[in-house]
Amino acid sequence: MSDSQDGRILLADYPKLPLPEDRTDFLVQESLDFAHAHGLVMRTPQHIDRSDVCQNTPIALLPSAFPRNLFEKAVNVQNLIAALYHEVAYDYDFLMKTHEQVIKTDVFTKNLVEIFKKVQEEGNAQPVSLAIQRSDYMCHKDQFSAEYTLKQIEVNNIASSMGAHAERVSKMHYRNMSILGYEKALLNKSLPKNEPISMIAEALFVAWKHFDNPAAVVLVVVETVNQNQIDQRVVEYELEKLGVPPDQIVRRDLNQCNESLRLSETRGLMYHGSFVAVVYFRAGYSPDHYPTQAEWDARLLIERSTAIKAPWIGLQLANTKKTQQVLAEDGAVERFIGHPREAAAIRSTFAGLWAIDQNDPLTRKIVQGAINHPSRFVLKPQLEGGGGNFYGEPMAEKLKTLEGEERGAYILMERLQPLVVENYLIRANQPHPLSKCVSELGIYGYAFGKRGECVTKTGGHLLRTKGETVDEGGVAVGAAVIDSPFLY
Ligand code: ADP
Ligand code: MG
Ligand code: MG
Repeated sequence: MSDSQDGRILLADYPKLPLPEDRTDFLVQESLDFAHAHGLVMRTPQHIDRSDVCQNTPIALLPSAFPRNLFEKAVNVQNLIAALYHEVAYDYDFLMKTHEQVIKTDVFTKNLVEIFKKVQEEGNAQPVSLAIQRSDYMCHKDQFSAEYTLKQIEVNNIASSMGAHAERVSKMHYRNMSILGYEKALLNKSLPKNEPISMIAEALFVAWKHFDNPAAVVLVVVETVNQNQIDQRVVEYELEKLGVPPDQIVRRDLNQCNESLRLSETRGLMYHGSFVAVVYFRAGYSPDHYPTQAEWDARLLIERSTAIKAPWIGLQLANTKKTQQVLAEDGAVERFIGHPREAAAIRSTFAGLWAIDQNDPLTRKIVQGAINHPSRFVLKPQLEGGGGNFYGEPMAEKLKTLEGEERGAYILMERLQPLVVENYLIRANQPHPLSKCVSELGIYGYAFGKRGECVTKTGGHLLRTKGETVDEGGVAVGAAVIDSPFLY
C-alpha cells in the first residue's frame, strides 16, 4: 500500500482482490449509509415520493483500475470535442445533408429536422447557445494492437446525466479506500478530483448572466415521470448558490411547456409573464418524450425563441449517431477544426464507423463482415438513453432484414474490446461477488457562445462499469453501475 519510489502509482498499489469477506460486507454497509446520507438515490419505480439507494443507482464498491495516460487523454481532448460539436451544430447544410437518408424512414429525426428547418427559415432568434456535454470512451485493444488506446463510444449533448451521482461516488470511493488503509497522499494521486456539479451549474449560470435579465427564469425540461431527478436537482441547488433565485428555476415537461409558454412579439420566451433566459433539456431526446403534437409544438416554440437552449435544435441534430459516423469520414472533422494537430487529436479517439445506406463495394463488404462476424460490430439507430443498439446474432439478423431506405437510418460501429478489471458491483437485494468487469469513462464539459466563437471548459467525469459479457451500457437501463477511476 505504499507509493512506488518515484511517486508514480502502479497497478500494484490497487487493493489485492478478493478482499476478505468480512471486509467486503463491512464496506458494503458503509457504502449504503454514505449513499443515503449524500443523496446517491433515485426514485423507486413504484413511488413518486420515495427514493432509495442502489435500486436504480447501483454502485461499484471500489474505484476501478483505469490507465492514467488514457484518462488524461480524454480530459485533454474534451475542450476540442466541445468546440467541434458547437460548430457542427451551426452548419445547416452539413447537418441537412448528413440526415438526408436518415429521415426517409426515421420519423423522430425527421421531426427534429423539420424544426431545424423552420428555425433556419425564420432566422435563429438567439445566436448564442450552450452545450453541456459528456463524451464517453472505452480503453480498447484489438488483436492487432500492442496496447490499449482511448476510443470514443459517443458524445452526449443533450441531458448528459449522472454528474451529481458520479461526484458522490468519487467521494464514497475515497472514503472506502481510506477504510482499507490507504494514505491521503496516495489517494490524492490515484483518485482524480471530480466536480461535474459545479461545472454544469457554472455553464447554466454563464448563460443566464449572458441573457442579462435578473428576473428571467431557467426552465428545466424534464420527463413527465422522473426517476433521476435527484441527480438533476443537485445541479439546480448549485445554480441557486451561484445566484439564480429558487423561484426562478422551474421544472416542466414538454406538455406543461406547451400550456405555459408563449412567445412575445420579439420572440422572447414567456413563462407566466417572466422571460425564460435558459432552457436546460433533461428530456426531449427520446420519441417517448413527445407522445402528442403538443410536445412537438412546445419544442418548436422554444426553438423559435430568444431563450438560450442547452442544447438548441442544431446541437441535438449534431448529437446523432449518424453525425458521429459522418464526422469520422475523411475531411469531416477538419472542416470544423482548422488546426491539423487538434483535428488529429480528436480523430485519434474515433473507432471504425460506417454508413450502411450506400451501394458502394466497401460498404457492402463491411455489412457482409458484420453478418459473418457479429461479435465485432454494433448496429445503432438514431436513439439516445440506452437500449437502442443491436449486438451479436440479433444484430446480424437485423442487418439481413433491413431493406432499402431503412438502412440509411442506422450506422455500424466497430465493437470495442475494453480493458477487463475486477470489482464488486452493488445492486439492491442482490449478491455481490467479485466480478470481471469493463468500464466506460465519460468526461463532462461545456461550450458556450456564438458560431465561430465559444468558450469551453472541462470538469468532472463519470465511470460506468458493467459485467464483462453485458452488451448495453447505461445505468438507467440497468446494465452498468456508477463507478470512479483508480488511475495507474
Ligand atoms: P446511447 O446513446 O443509447 O447511450 P451508446 O452508443 O452510448 O448509446 O451505446 C450504449 C452502450 O452500448 C454503451 O454505453 C456501451 O456500453 C455499448 N456500446 C456502444 N457502442 C459500442 C461499441 N462500439 N463497442 C462496444 N460497446 C458499445
Ligand atoms: Mg451512451
Ligand atoms: Mg447517448
